[in-house]
Order: sequence, then structure tokens, then C-alpha cells
Amino acid sequence: MIKSQAMDFRPTEEQELLRRTVREFAAAEIAPHVMEWDEAQQFSPDLLPKLAALGLAGVQFPEEYGGAALSAVDYCICIEELARVCPAVALSVAAHNGLCSAHIAAFGNAAQKAAFLPRLVRGDVWGAWGLTEAGAGSDAAGMRTTGVRDGDAWVLNGAKTFITHGRIGGVMVVIAVTDRSKGHRGISAFIVERGTPGMSAGKKENKLGMRASDTSEVLFDNCRIPADHLLGDEGQGFINTLQVLDGGRIGIAALSVGLAQGAYDAALGYARERRQFGQAIAEFQAIQWKLADTATRIEAARLLTYRAAYLRDQGARTTRESSTAKLFASEVAVKAADDCVQIHGGYGFVKDYPAEKFFRDVKLLTIGEGTSEIQRLVIARQLLAQ
Ligand SMILES: Cc1cc2nc3c(=O)[nH]c(=O)nc-3n(C[C@H](O)[C@H](O)[C@H](O)COP(=O)(O)OP(=O)(O)OC[C@H]3O[C@@H](n4cnc5c(N)ncnc54)[C@H](O)[C@@H]3O)c2cc1C
Repeated sequence: MIKSQAMDFRPTEEQELLRRTVREFAAAEIAPHVMEWDEAQQFSPDLLPKLAALGLAGVQFPEEYGGAALSAVDYCICIEELARVCPAVALSVAAHNGLCSAHIAAFGNAAQKAAFLPRLVRGDVWGAWGLTEAGAGSDAAGMRTTGVRDGDAWVLNGAKTFITHGRIGGVMVVIAVTDRSKGHRGISAFIVERGTPGMSAGKKENKLGMRASDTSEVLFDNCRIPADHLLGDEGQGFINTLQVLDGGRIGIAALSVGLAQGAYDAALGYARERRQFGQAIAEFQAIQWKLADTATRIEAARLLTYRAAYLRDQGARTTRESSTAKLFASEVAVKAADDCVQIHGGYGFVKDYPAEKFFRDVKLLTIGEGTSEIQRLVIARQLLAQ
């Protein structure tokens, strides 16, 4: 009999250190500003350089581009710790790392990686990634934005909606139709720099939550970009996008775990302090059960998330695992944020406590990077294909 090795669920010493480092950074540099940035609907401009100084603007990218070259598991630790304090910061960091930069790192050629990754990783610019359109959300392949080859340029026309960093992003990956007759195999990706004539930011969205993270339309009106800004092979843009989302969704799952943990921590602390009927409300079984259920769900969500990340680190294609983690963790987070408000009673409804912000921010997690319904569809397709 071959003696099997025990499965090891413990983080390494380096991972413990990484968690402590990001936690301390979030406590010092983010926590004091969370509500101010939420009200202002923007971060302070020095946030990105500070994130970059810690390696958080290039978590998984190779050292040759200035990246921290960490694993997908490490990336989850970073996003989780940021989300525990400010989900909006975590969302921006996830879009920057997990969508824009990840797409360039995975499918860019050597020249594109050398030209764009160092700037993204150094935190010179926020990265944006444009797939969604007003008429094409879940059905992203139904997009109308076009890219037409004209001599030594590609000409983009159309409009992208709900783009994280649509107004503040310096580099954007844009997905557009290059041959409509080929359906989803006629879609390509492009890199567009802010300031390119014909590209402009449209309406800034006035959002329920994640308010500090910039979201806006991005418009393309005969926007000419150099031919060598085609990202990946022509016609492969949508197929590559699905692979980018396999990684991105693990990031949103980690964000969900972090938000749920932040909400749980706030609820536990409040339940210990708040006294009614002559005792701390934590003494009531009704409150204890909520805390126990939340803690249990968070652990389950964390295991699914870190398992998906671990498999990705082993080089596996994780379409099903990514969607499973994202679906479960985001719904756990919604319930955790709801219970956090409930445990706070009326104080959960006002801005003096973190509960109301978690409650507002959390809803994005069952919508962005594919709604819960779309995650179920992806999982079911994988199951039925077996
Ligand atoms: C704050 C924020 C940031 C975002 N950032 C980005 C970004 O950086 N880049 C980007 O490209 N996009 C971004 N998005 C867009 C996001 O990914 C889309 O909102 C999401 O994919 C859903 O698309 P939709 O809003 O058009 O909803 P729809 O697709 O119109 O869905 C509406 C409802 O119908 C359901 N539905 C749709 N199709 C099906 C089906 N086949 N079966 C069952 N139910 C279905 C959905 O689940 C949902 O409940 C962002 C969105 C927000 C709110």
C-alpha cells in the first residue's frame, strides 16, 4: 500500500506573514478613510501608490515586470484582508489585478507585457477591463462594440457600461466584435490607453454600494489604436475572456469571504457590547445561532475559495471550481451582511457603524463577474458535460 500524505489546509508561515502585513496595512491606511471615500465616491489619489508599494498592484505577475510573483492562494489572502476592511478597495484591486492586468499577462505578447505590465504593477495607472455593454451583460457575446482593421490601426466604435475605473483607468482592455459572422469566435480584445482620441468616459454611476470604486461608461467613437494593440489572437478575445474570468471569479469569492468576515467580526464585537434585558445580547441564543451559522458558512466559503485558488496554482482549468466558490461565497456574504445589520438592530441602519456599508457593498458580489444565476448555469454546463 502506498502511504498517502495528509492533506494540509494550514497556511504556510509566509502566508501568515502576508495576511498580517496586508491586515496591518488595511488597518493603518484604509480603515480611517472608509466612510470618507464612500461619501466622496472616490479613493484618495495616494491609495494606488501605497497599494503598489506593498505589491498589491501586481500580486501575481512575474518579477521581471516588477510583480510580486505570488500565487493565486496568496492573492486570495490579499483580497480577503482588504475586503474585510473596505470591499470597495478590494473590488478595485481585484479589477486591476484579476481582469485588466491578468488579461495582458495571460494573453499579451512579450512587447505588450513589457509596455503595459510594469506601469500597472508600479501603480502608475489603474487598469480597467471592458466587456459589459448596456445591451449585453450576462449575454456578453451579444456585444455591439466593433473593432475594424484599417491599415496599421484598429478602429473601435461602441460603448461599454459599468466599467470599474472607466473614468480613472489609465490602461483598458476592451473586448469588441471583429467579425460578426463568426459569433463568439469573431470577438477580439484590445489594449487602449487613456487619452487616445475617440475614447471618452461616459456617465459615472451613482451606486448603492462599492461607492468609492469608480464605475462608469466608456465610449468609443472612431477610436484608432495601433494594430499591435490587438491582445491575443484575432477572434480569440471572448474565449480568452472566459479564462480570465475563471481567475477573476476566485478573486470575487475571496472578496466575498473577506466582506463576510468583516461583517461577522463587527457583529460579534457588537453582540458582546450591546446590553438588553440586563445582559449582553450575545447571551441570547437567537444571536448565538446567527453567529455560529455565519462563522460556519464563512469557513465553508473560504475552503471552496482557497481550494479553487490552489487548483489554479497547480495549473488546472478551474471553470467549475471558480464559479462554485464565487456563487457560494457571494451568497454567504449577502447573508452575513444581512445578519450583521440585524444583530446591530437600529444601529445597523446608520452610518456610525460598519454594518450598513457592508450591507450596501455586498450586493455587487452576486452580480459582478457573472450573476449567481450565470454561475449556476456555468456549473450546470460543467456537470452535464461530464
Ligand atoms: C459596480 C459594478 C462594477 C462592474 N465592473 C465591471 C467591469 O469592470 N467590467 C465589465 O465588463 N463589467 C463590469 N460590471 C458589469 C457586470 O459584470 C454585469 O452587471 C453583470 O455581468 C450582469 O449583467 P447585467 O447587469 O447586464 O444584468 P443582466 O444580464 O441584464 O441580468 C439581469 C438578470 O437576469 C438574469 N439572467 C440573465 N441571463 C440569464 C440566464 N441565461 N438565465 C437565468 N438568469 C439570467 C441575471 O442573473 C440577472 O438576475 C460591473 C457591474 C457593477 C454593478
